[in-house]
Amino acid sequence: MTHRKVIVVGSRGQDGTLLCRQLADRRCNVIEVARNLAVPAIGKALDILDADAVTRLVGTAAPDEIYYLAAHHQSAEEKIAGEASLFRDSLNVNVMGLVNFLDAARLHAPQCRIFYAASSHVFGTPSSSPQDESTPLNPENVYGIAKTAGIHACRYFRRQHGLFAATGILFNHESVLRDAKFLSRKVAVAVARIRQGKADQLVLGNLEARVDWGYAPDYVEAMQRILAADQPGDFVVATGETHSVRELAEKAFAHAGLDYRNYVQADASLVDASRPVLAGNSARLNGVTGWVPTKSFDEMIVELVDHELGQA
Ligand code: NDP
Repeated sequence: MTHRKVIVVGSRGQDGTLLCRQLADRRCNVIEVARNLAVPAIGKALDILDADAVTRLVGTAAPDEIYYLAAHHQSAEEKIAGEASLFRDSLNVNVMGLVNFLDAARLHAPQCRIFYAASSHVFGTPSSSPQDESTPLNPENVYGIAKTAGIHACRYFRRQHGLFAATGILFNHESVLRDAKFLSRKVAVAVARIRQGKADQLVLGNLEARVDWGYAPDYVEAMQRILAADQPGDFVVATGETHSVRELAEKAFAHAGLDYRNYVQADASLVDASRPVLAGNSARLNGVTGWVPTKSFDEMIVELVDHELGQA
């Protein structure tokens, strides 16, 4: 029996780590591409912006699937350093690296199936809710602009060259591997530190902001189902439910036996007033692949907090 040969680009991030674990369980041969991680076939880390190097790797490896997960992105509460450098980094990592893999596949592995991780930020401030694949792409931040270009690049290679280039329009998804600059993990880490007497407060932005939060292992499963579909396409991956930041904090603190009102402070300077409420409709994904989320919001928070309590 032959095992699928898979390249995972951005393999050491949250989703890359989870995906590599699932692929290993499914006995796939995985080639990881990450910064500062040598690719055995070339003896050093692959520069995803080096088109020739990407072409050589794809030509040599002849992968069945490529998951393009590398991203340059910011959390909602981070400040922007410089617009030009943000555009450059975002377009390089979120678009040009992708285009290098798409073109390499066109030349040397035309049967290869390629997944691109796009984002709900491609919708900007949509006029309808929930969002689905027919919602106009109308991004309002640099990350969203770059992810929109990534979707168009996949559509282009699909249309012009017949490549199986599919996208997941991913809404927020969390796990114990989420970078601590993002809200879910930030709250879980703070709860554990407060519970163990190492901190006494948590400062958050807008407690009333609402988010469609999913469970990352479910989203990584969705990526694989998208590549196993009969036809390549764009698929919203979301729970369709939104919860407020206040609810997240309340449940996370309560799970550790604490009342969030005694510890959480709202700092208006962290509030991104323009941030729209996004909620996704994954009916298409469900119809084509049968995908449904397996873990509820409450169960996910319990997992995040338990993990941090065990770590702290
Ligand atoms: P992470 O930030 O955890 O992972 C992204 C990875 O890309 C990081 O490991 C990063 O490496 C890597 N990367 C960045 N630049 C390069 C580069 N030049 N070469 C190689 N690797 C690079 O994101 P997630 O795992 O959470 O997300 C996976 C994908 O899904 C991303 O594309 C993201 O935009 C998208 N997405 C995620 C959502 C979420 O809620 N998690 C929501 C919507 C979309 P390093 O650590 O060195 O920077």
